[in-house]
This record gives sequence, C-alpha cells and structure tokens, in this order.
Amino acid sequence: METKQKYVLALDLGTTGNRAILFDGNGEVVGQSYGELTQYYPHPGWLEHDPMEIWHDTRSCMEQVFRSTGVSPQGVAAAGLTVQRETCLLWNKTTGEPLHKAIVWQDRRTAHNCRELTEKGYAEKIQESTGLVLDAYFSASKLAWLLDWVKQNQPEVDLDKVLAGTVDTWILWNLTGRRVHGTDHSNASRTMLMNLGTDEWDSELLDLFGIPAHLMPEIRPSLGDFGVIDEEILGTEIPIRAVFGDQQAALFAHGCNQKGMLKCTYGTGSFLIAQSGQELTRSRNQLLSTVAWSEANGGKPVTNYALEGAMFTTGACIQWLRDGLKLIKSAPETDTLARSVNDTDGVYFVPALSGLGAPHWDMSARGGFLGITGGVQREHIVRAVLESIAYQVKEVVDAMNQDGDTPISLLKVDGGASQNNFLMEFQADVLGIPVERPAILDATAQGAAFGAGLAIGFWNDYDELVAKRKRDRSFIPSKNQHQAQDNFQMWQKAVGRAKNWTE
Ligand code: ADP
Repeated sequence: METKQKYVLALDLGTTGNRAILFDGNGEVVGQSYGELTQYYPHPGWLEHDPMEIWHDTRSCMEQVFRSTGVSPQGVAAAGLTVQRETCLLWNKTTGEPLHKAIVWQDRRTAHNCRELTEKGYAEKIQESTGLVLDAYFSASKLAWLLDWVKQNQPEVDLDKVLAGTVDTWILWNLTGRRVHGTDHSNASRTMLMNLGTDEWDSELLDLFGIPAHLMPEIRPSLGDFGVIDEEILGTEIPIRAVFGDQQAALFAHGCNQKGMLKCTYGTGSFLIAQSGQELTRSRNQLLSTVAWSEANGGKPVTNYALEGAMFTTGACIQWLRDGLKLIKSAPETDTLARSVNDTDGVYFVPALSGLGAPHWDMSARGGFLGITGGVQREHIVRAVLESIAYQVKEVVDAMNQDGDTPISLLKVDGGASQNNFLMEFQADVLGIPVERPAILDATAQGAAFGAGLAIGFWNDYDELVAKRKRDRSFIPSKNQHQAQDNFQMWQKAVGRAKNWTE
C-alpha cells in the first residue's frame, strides 16, 4: 500500500444530519464536519428530505473536513459511505434533478397501502422473501407512491430517463460523476424488494409494487468496488470501497462478526442488531431478518445476516421536545432535568410519533403521555421521554432473548443519544445487565471507514482494528433496577392504550 495515503474518509449521511470524518491508520478520528439536515413535515405522519440538500451538504462537509484538518484529498486511500436506510427517491438521469423530495423512513403516508396488501394476504410472502414485516417503514411502498405521484403530476416524464434509489444510491451516483447507479446488500435488504434467498431484486415484488426493474440500482457487496469519487469534486479521484446502511455500519464497527454479537444504536430511532452469521435466521417474535453486510470474495459474495429490532422514534422524541414543544433548549439538557426529580411522578410516555416498530409493528399507534396529575412538571415529562427510550429497548431485548438460546448479558451502545448518562444508567437498570459505551460514539462512520480501509488493503486485520477501539464507560445496574423493571410493566400498559389509535 502506498504510504503517503494515511487516511480513510467516511461519509455518514444520517436522518438528522450529514457528516464527513477522516480516520487515521490507528482508526482514530483526525477531524470531522457536520451539518444538520432540514426536516420537512408536509402533513401529520409525513416526513421528507431535500435530496439536493443532502448532496450539497455531503460536498460541503467533505470540503470542510479537508480544510479544517489540512489533510489533502490525495492523502486519502479510500472512502466509505453509510446512510440513513429506507429513505428513497426518484430522479431524472439526464438533468440530475430529483422528481420529488425523498420520502424518509419514518414517513407513514403509505400505511393504508400496506394495510391493503396485508388484507389481500401478501404479508407472509413478503416476510418469506425479504425477511421484513410488511410495513410503510420500508422503501417499496414509498417508491410506489412516488411513481404514482410522477404519473399523476408529471405525465410528460419518460420513465426510461428515471432512476430510483435509497440515499446511498443517490449520493454514489453524484459522487461518481453519475457513473455508478448502485447500492449494497445491506441497504438493498431494507427496500422490501430484495430477495434474501438470492440477494437480488425480487421480480414478483417489483411487479406487486409496480416498480419497473430498470429503475433499480445494481446491488454490489458492501465491502467492494463502488467506483471513485470524481476528480472534479475534490481535485483527485478517491476509490469508494464500502457502502453500508447506518445500523449495519455500526454493527461492523463494534466488531460484531460472530453469531449472537449485538449492539444498540441510539440515534433518531434506536436499532438493536444481532449478527446471525452466514445462515439466515428467522424471528418468531416480530424481529426483522436482514443483511448485516456482504464482502466481494472473488466471484461469489459472502453475505452475513442479522436479526434486528427497529424502534422508530427515540432521539427524535428529544428533538421534538426541543423543536416542537420547545420544552428544552438542547438535547444534553435532558440529562440534568431528568436527574433533578426522583421519578416521573407517575407519567409514562409512549414514543409512537411515527407509529410503533418492533415488536408491535403498529402503523396506527400514536404518541401519548399517560398518568398526568396536577403536580407534574416539565422535568417529569422530560424524564418520562428518556425512560421511554430505555423501555422500548427492553421490549426488543426481551424479544431477542425469546428468539435466541443464550440470554443477552451485555449491551454495546453508540449513537447521539447514548451520550446521555441518565439514559444509559436507566437502560442498565431496566435491562438488569451492563451497558458498555465506546469512546467514539460515531460507530456508524467508523464502520464505513473500517470497511473501506479493509476492502482496499489500507488495513489488513479487522480484529486488531476493532480491538484498538477504546471503551468510554460501563454502566452497571444499580439498586434502582427493581423499581425500573416494575415501572416497565406500567409503561407496557400505556403502550397498550396508544396502539391502533388511527384505525
Ligand atoms: P442519526 O444518525 O439518526 O441522525 P445521531 O446518532 O446523530 O442520529 O443522533 C442524533 C439524535 O440523538 C437526535 O435525535 C438527538 O435528539 C439525540 N441526542 C443527541 N444528544 C443527545 C443527548 N445528550 N441526550 C439525548 N438525546 C440526544
């Protein structure tokens, strides 16, 4: 390997914001740049992103990270890309213009279409082919909605000139100077259009959702060749050697490459993922079977699978306390506020702001506060919201335990909201097991960097790279754990009240 190339670039395009991070040969962060992404809520339950903003922010984050660190793009051996999953769009391949804003994974506009498909008996076939629960969360029904919208509102559009994709596909196409229309197995497995048996697009599902196959990107191994960042962009070509869905990238960074190893990321939503090895495992408890990552292995890619519990709105509820309710000025403030009271004064929060994911899969559930009495103050409300994040994770851990042979004895965490010490302490209490937090919380970006660096031979030893990651803190269950576990029962009662709300 050429020694003048001392860095790997990770692009982490999340739901709330976009990041570029440079990693050095020790896997340490050299510098980073971040921009928050605008959230558009055109109707209740709908959420859109502007694809052009994502692309422009990706470019400006890259430029900024090189400027602030003084590293030259020539010094970068490879780039890795990791993105918010399921969010999807259509664009015109001649003009490069999106045909509509991207529909974000949390968006519920297609819930009724999914319900209709369930009533027609498609849920089982879809779960069998894709490993996923039939739900508006995944891309398939969103792409179908976008195509209908284009047919109705822009009938002049020639579908032969249209491309479809998730955020990785859109950004890859732009980064490569419009040369590569591709995705990787981990992102493709979240569209509800990829067959987990063949790891290819499922023609029956494309037909069912009315999506012409020629709109879809080529599926490539997650650690593999995705072309190069076009010279026009940074003045030099940089090979793109890894693409992952954000949760799978974090799993990779944590070193979870053996069956049963798992992590939980606390971002906009929370995602508990357990590696299930090269054999596809199916859940009996409403967890998803999905691709962890795949590796180009000469001819035939090697695919690792995972079991996942997806909880839609966790950090997003903290953002809602800040931007919607204006109850707090910043997310970290919730830690102090929650600690300033002994308990929630009997208040329970159901964080179903975009319906409920695992293990309920209820698109019509909505958020709620229960148990409010006259003495309840802002601090109790804030604490109830934080506690609800931990309760949701407890439900998914219980489901994983029911699916597996060995009970989970340690939870590795990462993501923006895992910075919250109150939340992590409460999480350890409610689970009754230790919670371990690494020093670098950007595991998502780290996974993309590790993947790209390993794929290009900048690094050779995955285990060594993972072993170098530093632990920040372990949270051990305290004397309050029994109370927390009792309260979990009450919270489940509250969840029962919030379900089937918009039926
Ligand atoms: P994503 O990748 O989904 O955009 P991040 O991992 O960047 O998410 O985390 C951002 C989320 O974490 C936001 O929803 C924010 O509200 C939440 N968050 C950030 N810091 C804290 C904190 N100290 N306490 C609680 N939540 C936090």
